[in-house]
This record gives sequence, C-alpha cells and structure tokens, in this order.
Amino acid sequence: MRKIFIAGNWKMVNGAPAEAVALAKEVVNASGSQDNVEVAICPPATAIAAVCEATQGTNVQVGGQNLYPAENGAFTGEISPTFLLAVGCSHVILGHSERRTIFKESDAFINEKVKVALAHGLTPILCCGETDQEREQGVTEKVVETQIRGGLGGLRPDDVTKLVIAYEPVWAIGTGKTATPEDAQSVHAFIRTLLRDLTNDAVADGLRIQYGGSVKPDNAKELLSQPDIDGALVGGASLKADSFGAIIDAGK
Ligand code: PEP
Repeated sequence: MRKIFIAGNWKMVNGAPAEAVALAKEVVNASGSQDNVEVAICPPATAIAAVCEATQGTNVQVGGQNLYPAENGAFTGEISPTFLLAVGCSHVILGHSERRTIFKESDAFINEKVKVALAHGLTPILCCGETDQEREQGVTEKVVETQIRGGLGGLRPDDVTKLVIAYEPVWAIGTGKTATPEDAQSVHAFIRTLLRDLTNDAVADGLRIQYGGSVKPDNAKELLSQPDIDGALVGGASLKADSFGAIIDAGK
C-alpha cells in the first residue's frame, strides 16, 4: 500500500523567512493529523532554515527545490546537499521542468544530482513530463521514458526505491490546464511498467508517483483516486494554506 505524498513547491515565492514561517505554520495547522498522508513543503533556499525550525516536531517535512551535485567548492550561487541536510531538509525536487527549460539541465546532470542526493540520504523528487508540442506529436511516453532512464541511470534497485517520481506535464504547470485523471493515470501506469523493467516488481509496486500540474482542491480527489497516482506536487495551490490543506484532505 503506497502512502499518498503531497508536496508543495513554493518556487520563488515566500523567500523572506518571516512570511515563509507564517505560511509553514498555517500548513502545519491545515494538514492536521495526516496519518495516511505524507506532507512536505519546499520553500526558496533563503527560507528553508527558518521553515525547518518552525516545522520541527510536526508532520510537515521540508525539501529543497534544487541542489548542486558537490559538497562544497567553487560553485558560486549553488546549494550543496550537505547544506540542505544541515538545516533539516529531508527531500529535494530535481529535474523540475523549469530547471530543464530555463536552466538547460540535461538528464545526465539531473542524474548526477539524484545520485548525490541519495548518497546524502535526501529523498529526490524526480520530475518528468512532456511539453504540449510533444503530447501533440504523440511522443509523451518516449519523452518520459528518456527522462526517467536518464535520471535513474546507474542506480541499483535499492537506490531507486528511495525516491519519488513526479509526472508533471509541462503544459499543465501553472496554466490551469490539468491532465484528465484518465490521461494522467495512463502515463503513471506507463511509468510504473517502465520501473518494473528497470528494477523489479517490489520497487515498481512500492515507488510513489506524484502527479503535478495545476492540482487544485476541486480536481485533487479524482486525480488521487487513480490507481497509479500516489500523491501530488503542487505549485500555485500550495501557496495558500487553505487550498493546500484541502488537497491534503483529498488524499486522506
Ligand atoms: C509545479 O511547479 O511543480 C507545479 C505543478 O505547479 P502548479 O501546481 O502551479 O501547476
């Protein structure tokens, strides 16, 4: 039985510690006692330490939105896995479509990040997803397969079991357009079959695959009721505790 996992990606919003802490506290209250739902929030780097402190001892976990695959050194502006761990992070989003497109991150580079995150005990949330043009061309599965094979390259099944995958069709991120539950389920089922090929039944059956892309309180329940949708990676709707809380409730 896979536990539903709802994560909030705050992107470049709420970077001031005071506002981030205020929202984090509201999320803690809104998420209540979520025995059967796991919750994480991923604030901007400048607010992670304060949010970790504010959520300590609660059920709300904290993740980074990115990392650089080295412990320290001459990498101006970057954040190392040890920094994320030092302030209390448990998760890190990797390969988000904004990083792939705006910052030109390749599957090989994302793979390095996944390996470094795992080596440090951080749970990677590895994102994948097709653009609208790719969906129109009918190559969604090919694109997702390339991203997952690339992102997981060189990992043993024991490692793969420690991560979370987020399927986020690029055309649905921040647009208000959501994949239909059936379309999302079909890609999730494809990903699980691919994981079965890459690893084994136990890993494929246990690994959580989140859906991301304009998840809102009014569509969360239907998406989360699909057999291979095990949670949500939420952008816009995670910026308000009431909508994020309602999405968490939909997963209970
Ligand atoms: C995201 O940023 O990962 C995301 C899914 O955003 P939104 O929920 O706003 O579409």
